[in-house]
Amino acid sequence: MTVPDGPLEWLALARGTLDRAALNRRDDAWLENAWADPRTRVLVIEDGRALVTFEPGPALVFVPPGRAPDGDRWLLGVDGDGTAYFGVPAPLPAIEGTEPAGLRQVGALLADRDSGLLTHLVALEHWHATHRFCPRCGGGTETASAGHTRVCPADGSQHFPRVDPAVIMLLTDADDRILLARGPQWPADRRSILAGFVEPGESLEQAVAREVNEEVGLPVRDIRYHGSQPWPLPQSLMLGFTAKTDGTVPLRPDPEEILDAAWYTRDELRTAIDAGDIVAPGPLSIAAQLIMRWYGGELPNMPAF
Ligand SMILES: [Zn+2]
Repeated sequence: MTVPDGPLEWLALARGTLDRAALNRRDDAWLENAWADPRTRVLVIEDGRALVTFEPGPALVFVPPGRAPDGDRWLLGVDGDGTAYFGVPAPLPAIEGTEPAGLRQVGALLADRDSGLLTHLVALEHWHATHRFCPRCGGGTETASAGHTRVCPADGSQHFPRVDPAVIMLLTDADDRILLARGPQWPADRRSILAGFVEPGESLEQAVAREVNEEVGLPVRDIRYHGSQPWPLPQSLMLGFTAKTDGTVPLRPDPEEILDAAWYTRDELRTAIDAGDIVAPGPLSIAAQLIMRWYGGELPNMPAF
């Protein structure tokens, strides 16, 4: 048994259903009309969290434009009925029966539309909060394009939301075991597959090979792409791969990046999770989806998120 080919069927944060309506972002008349329409829904965001109801939920809680707090208005998209959705960064309003929640808590539990909306808005909030100044001249920048651009009034330069590509790879050996490793800051029972940021001037496949070599000293072959999901925690795009190694080279973990790395058969992984030596990953991450694809289904004791 090997890892099946083809795209991953379900990725928690890659389920958005809205038309992003990019052509409307610079259309001031359209934006004004949409904001004046009482059907329009506004999602307020504060430090990566929005209001959620868990009855019967979980579902995002929106306010109409007339009850939205002051703040930037970022167009998130339009649904099939023509209803527009905006995000506003502001202190969360007090609404009975709701509570603040972020992507780690509800990203895997929300329905497709809501998961996509929250993922988009969390990413925009972080980008705006950390890119207030022009990288050319150091002056303050202003929001434009309904939240999808920042513009420098001094030199006219435009700046677009940043997304940092990161590769994550499920490595199998000749016996179809997977490699799981523990990062230096992780709890003792946490393991995952290898991952790392793509460097300038590097292809995704080169990044996979380099990271595996740097972290555990192994050569890889048969690098295959399986899907991607945004990971705005804070600003990554995770690109999921599988790769193989022949297993003739011993593991050589980099002590700065890897505290512990070992090969697991399916039985060994199940036993380690059952014994509490390893905590099963939640379904939110692409790592969990890649491991489940190899494992052949849900892992034992998987949390809900
Ligand atoms: Zn500037």
